Amino acid sequence: MINWQFTLHPDHTINLDTNDRTLARLLEEKEPTSRICMACGSCGGTCTAAQFEPVSFRHILLMVRRGETESVRSELTKCMYCGKCTLVCPRGVNTRHILALLRTMLIN
Ligand code: SF4
Ligand code: SF4
Repeated sequence: MINWQFTLHPDHTINLDTNDRTLARLLEEKEPTSRICMACGSCGGTCTAAQFEPVSFRHILLMVRRGETESVRSELTKCMYCGKCTLVCPRGVNTRHILALLRTMLIN
């Protein structure tokens, strides 16, 4: 078999009609800045924990919006809650507060 030096990602169907988006709505009520993320990626690019394993606030928020709660719970265990992502966000998203709220809602 030919080795093409890449692999295909498994299918990942996102159905916003059936996914439970309760977590995203709760988060918007408690921290309205979660609505204004423009997905620029600055938070992920400067993430302290990303030196050790792949983690990005932008990706976590995307999963919250999609209703992929189990994946969010798993990503939260990688975050160090240092708040560096809050300092670099050009939109003023209170990322650390959002991460702390998610931790309270999903882990504690
Ligand atoms: S830096 Fe701010 S605006 Fe950019 S992706 Fe992160 S949270 Fe969103
Ligand atoms: S608070 Fe978490 S996501 Fe934000 S920079 Fe620190 S480790 Fe990364």
